[in-house]
Amino acid sequence: HVQIQHAATHDHLTGLPNRAYFEEWVHQTLPRTDRGLAVLLIDLDRFKEVNDTLGHRAGDTLLEQVGARIRGCLDDDDLAARFGGDEFAAVFAVADQREAQRRADVISDALEQPFDLGESMVAIAASIGIAMAPGHGMTAAELLRSADLAMYDAKRRHSRASIYESSLDGNDSVRLAMLGDLRDALHAGQLEVAFQPQVDLRTSRVAAVEALARWTHPVHGHVSPEVFVPVAEQAGLIEELTSFVLAESLGAARSWLPTHPDVGVAVNLSPLSLVNEDLPRVVATELARVGVPPRLLTLEITEQTVIGDTPRTVRILEQLAAIGVRLSVDDFGTGHSSLVNLRRLPISELKIDRSFVGGMLQERNDDVIVRSTIDLGHNLGFSVVAEGVETTETKHRLHALGCDLGQGFGISRPLPLDELIVWLAAAAAAPANPSP
Ligand code: C2E
Ligand code: CA
Ligand code: CA
Repeated sequence: HVQIQHAATHDHLTGLPNRAYFEEWVHQTLPRTDRGLAVLLIDLDRFKEVNDTLGHRAGDTLLEQVGARIRGCLDDDDLAARFGGDEFAAVFAVADQREAQRRADVISDALEQPFDLGESMVAIAASIGIAMAPGHGMTAAELLRSADLAMYDAKRRHSRASIYESSLDGNDSVRLAMLGDLRDALHAGQLEVAFQPQVDLRTSRVAAVEALARWTHPVHGHVSPEVFVPVAEQAGLIEELTSFVLAESLGAARSWLPTHPDVGVAVNLSPLSLVNEDLPRVVATELARVGVPPRLLTLEITEQTVIGDTPRTVRILEQLAAIGVRLSVDDFGTGHSSLVNLRRLPISELKIDRSFVGGMLQERNDDVIVRSTIDLGHNLGFSVVAEGVETTETKHRLHALGCDLGQGFGISRPLPLDELIVWLAAAAAAPANPSP
């Protein structure tokens, strides 16, 4: 019934129909099925890794075999397609969601068997999004959109397959709306930066402040950076965000330089910033332009960045260190960085993740982790900061364990610049009070 040229409708690598053919097939089949129809989007989880490490030929072979395996899980009346890249689709009639889920499981099982690529055997996995007609869409385009949302949900939850739910839609529209708003907010200068003090636990002197991005959305109100930083990363806005926070932070540091010449500022870097070869030059230029000594700037990189250190990341970090900027490993303890990684990189500081600090007085394990991290940091010649210091007792315990700096609500909340300046003046006026 579908009469279009084979070449225009099929993917030449796998021989499977393409997206246009798939949509047309769904369009023609929808009115004629008396059962439910399940639309599956199948996205491979580690394809890029195979392609990058084993080469394009191996990647192509893998895609051919994936196509054949998906096809092998289907009946003659069903349709499998390749949409391009490592994205595949399938559509078939089912009685209900349970049957759709079961058939998705069969496909996952098939794709989790190792693939023989000649030179090597590789194991991959797939994330599958399922949408059901007519409940989750009346047209092919609507069904694919629902399946796409479900597929991202599966990826996010690290589950093999996910069935569309209307709540996913809500998240998506909020996310999409936010994306446009974030772009506008950045351009209109609606983002702000708050500064949270880090104090020397021995002398109570302020050593530095951490810059934390703040966004007050005209409708949604305060939006957490835990929400909008990932949106910025996905939308390609992270460089703009980083430049903005960097410029604000250096401007702020410049303003307190005459009165507090030793108080530094720490800026968070996204892992994505560390693939940008321009970063060291941007940082050096900005420091010179504003007139802040490089030693007063700390760049916080996540432990994730340290673990995934590619030659390029290492090069960028070395150039940053050469400028005289300090590097700090944020959220330390949440990843699995090795001593080898830590020693190889020009790091000055470890920041113990607040999940350990918050519970260290109650949880013996957390106390052990905090203590070992302090010792590890000191043995490698780093200074150690504890974040999430909420109480005086925690502060005292950290001091007893030899931790250098503390940061948290128990010391000060993140403050707007004008309040920070007042806070800094008060802290400088107070007598240096060594902790007990
Ligand atoms: P982070 O780098 O771990 O920043 C510390 C977070 O802990 C901040 O949350 C801070 O407000 C919060 N915090 C401080 N003291 C305490 C405490 O005593 N108890 C508890 N429970 N929390 C405390 P915030 O501002 O919501 O930032 C969340 C995350 O967003 C940051 O985590 C950082 O990863 C990211 N972020 C914030 N600003 C930026 C930015 O300009 N660029 C990038 N790339 N990421 C940013
Ligand atoms: Ca941080
Ligand atoms: Ca942190």
